[in-house]
Amino acid sequence: MKRTLLVLGGGIVGLSCAYEALKQGWRVIIADRGEIGGQASGAAAGMLAPYYENGDSPDAFFRLCMDSFARYPAWTAEIEDAAGVRAGLVRSGSLHVAHRDADRLSLLGRLAWQSGLSRGMEWLNETALSQLEPSLPRGLAGALYCPEEAHVQAPLLVKALARACERLGARLLPHAGEMTAVNQGASGGLSVRFEEYGTIGADALCCCLGAWSGQLADWLGLRIPVHPIRGQICAYDPAPVSLRHIVFGAQAYWVCKPDGSLVCGASEDEAGFDRTVTEGGVGRLVRASGWMFPGLAGAAPARSWAGLRPATLDGWPLIGPVPGRSGVYVAAGHYRNGILLSPATAAAFGGWLAAGGGARGVGGEAASHAFRPGRFGHYAGDERKEATSV
Ligand SMILES: Cc1cc2nc3c(=O)[nH]c(=O)nc-3n(C[C@H](O)[C@H](O)[C@H](O)COP(=O)(O)OP(=O)(O)OC[C@H]3O[C@@H](n4cnc5c(N)ncnc54)[C@H](O)[C@@H]3O)c2cc1C
Repeated sequence: MKRTLLVLGGGIVGLSCAYEALKQGWRVIIADRGEIGGQASGAAAGMLAPYYENGDSPDAFFRLCMDSFARYPAWTAEIEDAAGVRAGLVRSGSLHVAHRDADRLSLLGRLAWQSGLSRGMEWLNETALSQLEPSLPRGLAGALYCPEEAHVQAPLLVKALARACERLGARLLPHAGEMTAVNQGASGGLSVRFEEYGTIGADALCCCLGAWSGQLADWLGLRIPVHPIRGQICAYDPAPVSLRHIVFGAQAYWVCKPDGSLVCGASEDEAGFDRTVTEGGVGRLVRASGWMFPGLAGAAPARSWAGLRPATLDGWPLIGPVPGRSGVYVAAGHYRNGILLSPATAAAFGGWLAAGGGARGVGGEAASHAFRPGRFGHYAGDERKEATSV
């Protein structure tokens, strides 16, 4: 008989793990308190920027980003085929601009250790920069060019993943309401009770609750210090300027999407679990857009929205089996990089699932000890920041 995996949370991380389990022949149920993909995953800009996100050194997190990035083209193509939905992957390359001479130093520091690892990464002076990206203003001090970096349309990728999971037989349970109980019997069997669907039994549980992951700390017996960091973001549609590359500036980033829009993000503010878009947050992006691109001066974005990034205390995700709870896994805390890191996270989860949770080192870089869910120690009753806890 097929074993059942219950995935808690239908964001990109939960859906990616679910897809991996379905390929291994598991019966899969995905339960979300709200819309599938309705939180951070549906809000993301979808940049796949492992070099930009790692300024300091080639540590375990950089290796994880690179592992996931390398998996992206084949992973996306497979999901698109399974779903019949395109995710809008564009290998655009990126430009990290230096506004003034003083900005160059840190970018040249990055170039020093990343150029040997990134195909074609180079420093561009102002002339070369304006030839490559004519929409940029004159007078910049140059840019770090990374031809490899790419982007996807995150909402479309989430939709494709959800459809691929359904086509492989997954049961999707959106609007499940709150979890009112989680139990594990003496024989290891798991059950979760939801307000809307009653009790669901499972042989394995994958906890992918994004910014809300702390609510299971008590039951897991682990400190899960995941905190929401609000990201406010906007889109000009149709794009008043055309960009070939992702452009990272000091105040914001800009990326043109295949649907003809220009996305500009994103704030990083602490507002608890509030997803409100504020004048202060989006106004800063609008001002930065006007300074960077004269064609955007005075233009109003067509849309603005916000999402809650799941940030851990050390900035690194929590991925792996929960010590002392057989068949229970955590995949959460991907902060600014959950879209990028989903293929590697799912591969590691798939490795553990196939090996019954015991084997470390299967499934690539995400299976590293550096990301183990137990690294913050045992739960001591201090993680309940939100009313919704089990
Ligand atoms: C503005 C913005 C821009 C971003 N840009 C990028 C980018 O360019 N590249 C990149 O890689 N990353 C980006 N990110 C980060 C990325 O979006 C996140 O890291 C990623 O989406 C996290 O995925 P997740 O599945 O863990 O969380 P989520 O997508 O938040 O999913 C968690 C799910 O758990 C559900 N849930 C909560 N409580 C319960 C419960 N009790 N029962 C059932 N379900 C529950 C929620 O409803 C939610 O759907 C961005 C984020 C933001 C906000």
